[in-house]
Amino acid sequence: MEIPHETDVLIVGSGPAGALLGYLLARRGVDVLVVEKQADFEREFRGESLAAPSVTTLRRLGFGDALDRHGYLESSGVGMWLEGRRVFHVDYRRLSLETLPIEFPQPPLLHALQHRAAAFPNHHFAGSTRFTGLVEEDGAVRGAVVRPAGGTPVTVRSRLVVGADGRFSRVRKAAGLVPRTDQAARDLLSFRLPRPDGWPLESELVVDHDRHLAVLPTYPDAIRVSHNLPKRGLGELRAQGIDSFRDRVASIDPRLGPLLESHLRSWDDTGFLEVFNAELDEWAKDGLLLIGDASHTATPTLGQGVNLAIQDVVGAVPLIADALAGGSKGPVVRAEVFGAFVAERRRHKAFVAGFQKRQEASLAMGTAWQAAKRRARFRLLNALPLKYRVFGRLLNNPHHIDPADLPSSPGTRPVTLSPKS
Ligand SMILES: Cc1cc2nc3c(=O)[nH]c(=O)nc-3n(C[C@H](O)[C@H](O)[C@H](O)COP(=O)(O)OP(=O)(O)OC[C@H]3O[C@@H](n4cnc5c(N)ncnc54)[C@H](O)[C@@H]3O)c2cc1C
Repeated sequence: MEIPHETDVLIVGSGPAGALLGYLLARRGVDVLVVEKQADFEREFRGESLAAPSVTTLRRLGFGDALDRHGYLESSGVGMWLEGRRVFHVDYRRLSLETLPIEFPQPPLLHALQHRAAAFPNHHFAGSTRFTGLVEEDGAVRGAVVRPAGGTPVTVRSRLVVGADGRFSRVRKAAGLVPRTDQAARDLLSFRLPRPDGWPLESELVVDHDRHLAVLPTYPDAIRVSHNLPKRGLGELRAQGIDSFRDRVASIDPRLGPLLESHLRSWDDTGFLEVFNAELDEWAKDGLLLIGDASHTATPTLGQGVNLAIQDVVGAVPLIADALAGGSKGPVVRAEVFGAFVAERRRHKAFVAGFQKRQEASLAMGTAWQAAKRRARFRLLNALPLKYRVFGRLLNNPHHIDPADLPSSPGTRPVTLSPKS
């Protein structure tokens, strides 16, 4: 595609945040250019848990067919095993959720968003194209420089640049914005195994003192296992060899033992995730907005990253569309337009981060005394109806933004997805 030199909104990154924003703005008639450095959506593994509010939002926005046609797994609950005994369980079906959380891979979701967006002549997409710098004049962002692979840099002028370029955002860096980063004490190493018949379709945390496994059913027929390791501990773990890692995993969850020998053959079967919480105090400048992981990165607990990103978009779309339609404040979208929005989104992020930090602190308890206290606490919580209030609030949290005010567009095409991911 020939890259246009001018657009209303230039979006950097076509992950869940950028792709959804591009589609929804185009649907409102806004001229949009989305640039994505990857050539396709078959991206490196990003987790597949879609929180219940995101499923609701996607269905309300008309993506229900796309989800149903591709297929997914519903997650029916969460269970916690402590030192060999299941001490805690919540059945999500007892919560008043509109939908259950689902396991659905990111590539087909991104395909669906892109496919719908492509129906609009005012939506432009440039794959294999990298953001390299901002254009700034008179204290405001007026566009960006992007470079197609193997091509020459192109300056694109816009009324708003949206940085949706993920946890290591280059747009954020170019704008001189530095997030507050809170490193978790432990990182994660993940791998997939085939799912044995009769395996529960719910998230499980299997904990042995300060070592744990998160075991999640994964579409269509796998389980995804994540194991904690100390920060900067990957080299030491690998030095001990894959056999030792398999033994370690099997000692925490013996059910996995028979699968590990044949399906976790080498370190190539594993993926490393650096775990941290990060957040910007300011998400916007005149002519610039950061959303999704670029403005706040969550840890993987309860699969909230995509949910936060989707909620950012749903909240930002009417503000951007109105600011562009009004035009009373000059050619660029002013930062003040996003003041109340950012404050509310930060409350949502703080709510999620607070839960994630408490859970990580609980999982890191290593001594026999700490483990006994933790078991007693979860046993007590398990016996109380309060657990349904706690999880109801977590899964259907009060910061959810209803997309009902986003008018749907006539003439959207049905989405056909390839189930190959
Ligand atoms: C291993 C792993 C597992 C995870 N598991 C889950 C889970 O189960 N559930 C969940 O909700 N969340 C999960 N997350 C978090 C989730 O993936 C993110 O929160 C979510 O993808 C954020 O969406 P985003 O669009 O903001 O950013 P991203 O998805 O990171 O997308 C950013 C996009 O910008 C592009 N980009 C970057 N730099 C440039 C540039 N210079 N020029 C052009 N394009 C650029 C990237 O290629 C990418 O496509 C996981 C993350 C990881 C790493």
